[in-house]
Formats: sequence, C-alpha cells, structure tokens
Amino acid sequence: MDEKLAIRPTSESLMYEVVGRWIRSWRDMPMRLNQWNNVVRWEFKNPVFILRSREFLWNEGHSLFATKEEADAECDRIMGIYAKITQEYLALPGYLGKKSKSETFPGAEGTYSIEHLLPDGKAIQGPDWHSDGQNFSKAFDIAFIDKDGNKQYAYQNTWAISTREIGVMLAVHGDDKGAVVPPRLAAIQVVVVPIVNDESKDAVLADARKLMASLAGLRVRLDDRDNLTPGRKFNEWELKGVPLRVEFGPRDMKEGQAVLVRRDTGGKRTVKLASLPAEVQEELEAIQRNLFQRASDFLANNTRDAASLDELKATLTSKGGLVRVHWCGDAQCEGKMKTAAGGKILNVPLGQKPAQAKCISCGRDAPSFALYGRTY
Ligand SMILES: [Zn+2]
Repeated sequence: MDEKLAIRPTSESLMYEVVGRWIRSWRDMPMRLNQWNNVVRWEFKNPVFILRSREFLWNEGHSLFATKEEADAECDRIMGIYAKITQEYLALPGYLGKKSKSETFPGAEGTYSIEHLLPDGKAIQGPDWHSDGQNFSKAFDIAFIDKDGNKQYAYQNTWAISTREIGVMLAVHGDDKGAVVPPRLAAIQVVVVPIVNDESKDAVLADARKLMASLAGLRVRLDDRDNLTPGRKFNEWELKGVPLRVEFGPRDMKEGQAVLVRRDTGGKRTVKLASLPAEVQEELEAIQRNLFQRASDFLANNTRDAASLDELKATLTSKGGLVRVHWCGDAQCEGKMKTAAGGKILNVPLGQKPAQAKCISCGRDAPSFALYGRTY
C-alpha cells in the first residue's frame, strides 16, 4: 500500500495493562471508558458493502465495577440506550436477547445483542454488550482494595456499535430511488427547491429565503443552484435520502403556498405558508413513525415459527426471514439446527413468557424460544 497502516491488537490486550494502573481502590469505581476507533478484520471473507467490510468504524465502551451486581445492572442501561438509538433514531426494530454460549464474545461470560432483519430475508446483528466478569481483570491484574482493605478483581463489561448499523438503515429503508434517511437522523431534513424561470427568478428566490427563515430550528437546505433543472435536483436529493422536499414556484408564491413531497411515500400535498412550519414538523414526525412502523411490520410478518428441524429448513428455504424455535439450551442441539438449516441461533429474546414446549432438536422441555436465521 502507498500509505502505511499501523495495526494494533484488540482494545482489551492494548488497554487493560494501563487500566490496571488507574484503579487503586473501590473509590476509583465505577470507571467508564469510551473510545472510537477503526477495526481491521484480518481473517476475512465474503465482504458485503457497509454491512461486512474488512475495516469499519465503531464505538466501544469499557467499564469497571467493584461488584458483580453493579456490573450486571449495566446491561439494561446500555442495551436500553442501543434500543433507543436503533428504534427512535435509525427507525430500526430488532430483537433484544442473549447470545448462545458458542456465539458469546471470547473471554466474556455473557453477550446480549439486538438482531435485525434485512429486506433480502437475512439476519444481521446490531449492537452488543458483554459481561466479562473477572476474566480480563484476573488476566491483566486489574485489582483494587475494597472497603475492608482486601484485594479484589474488578468486574468488567464491554459493548460496541459500529457503522454497520448505518448499512442496516440504508438496506431497510432505502428503495429504487436511493437512500431514505429517518428525519431524526438526517443531516438535511428538508430541502427547498425553488422552481423558477427567467422572469420570476429573483422574486421566487427572495420568498424562498423567507420560507427558509420560517423553518429555522430544522436542518434545512435551499437548493438555489442555477445550473440544474428542478427535476435533476429532485433526483439528487431523493438519492441522498432527504426526508422532505418543499417545492416553491411562481404560482405558489402568488397563492401563498408551497408543495410538500415525502421521501418515504412520495406523497404530495399543498400547504399554506402561514402554517408551513407546523406542517413540516408534523410531516417529519409522520415520516419517522412510518419508517419504523413499516420496518416493524416487515419484521413481524417475516418472523415465523417452526416446530421441527424439517420445518425449520423448509421455512427458511422457501421464505427466509427469522424463525422462532424452541430450544433446550444445549450446544449439541444448537449444532444440529445449524447443520439442518444452514443458519444459526441469533439470540434468545428477553422478556419471554415460559411456554410448555419441547426442543425442536431433542424433544426435551424448552420453555424459551431462540431466534434462528441465515446471516452474511
Ligand atoms: Zn435440545
């Protein structure tokens, strides 16, 4: 390569020797460390644009606690933040659950994930959180003196969210015209496209700027480039996924109105300029709700049940999507399911009501179901 890259080991092995020197007593905790970095996956195959790449950006959190109880309590908090970001900003529904032992992060005692479904019927993992117990603190001597003067090892957690989540958002909401970005996340929420001819140009642009001023507080862009036709501008902003377009021409100027066009549905309506700020705000919220609802319906309609290994395979082969299967928790049964249908157990969703059901592999009691799917 022309440009040299410096590769470093995983954060745990790089950071924890130093972290061990930062912790002296129980008063130093909890300690929470946040960092952004690029990850390079050295052993790697089957790249998929944005979703699975050799290099990606992520945010990782590392935390240290004096007790196991405090450390475990963090799971709800962090997964709650991730659920909020994915649902309320990216408009992505998903299943929050616990990973199986074989899918747990190496070195961790438990891993929790959010699992999403892509439009092609494949599953993809979103953000995750790991309970590391004292595994790393014992290996790296991250110890402290507790209230009674005894040496103790810290309880640690780690968690991460990556740019893959942006890929999931693009795949789930996008259409043949390009990206569809949820309003709460969009860098540009509204684009104003003036429609002008030579005579009306100055007057329309002057009023379009007033219209812009009335939308202060939102992320708005006026596209006053004069080398492109309105049609070209429409295409360009649709490709980029701007949620709402405001069209404003000489006739609108005369009538004191503007035309709103939604990116998600293509729906068009004319509104009076006096009520424009409120109408735009309402429309953006409606788009945000619609994207989440549409994705939630797709997820619900493509999550099915299977009561046997044969049914699991048949369902996945004919329909794709996610499949709920009752599982006893045994690793051998997990392996059989993997072989039977060419996918894997994604997680065991939280908040289930125990059911009187049998494991689809061995027939033993299995009160909980696991989510199964094919992945990239
Ligand atoms: Zn079983």
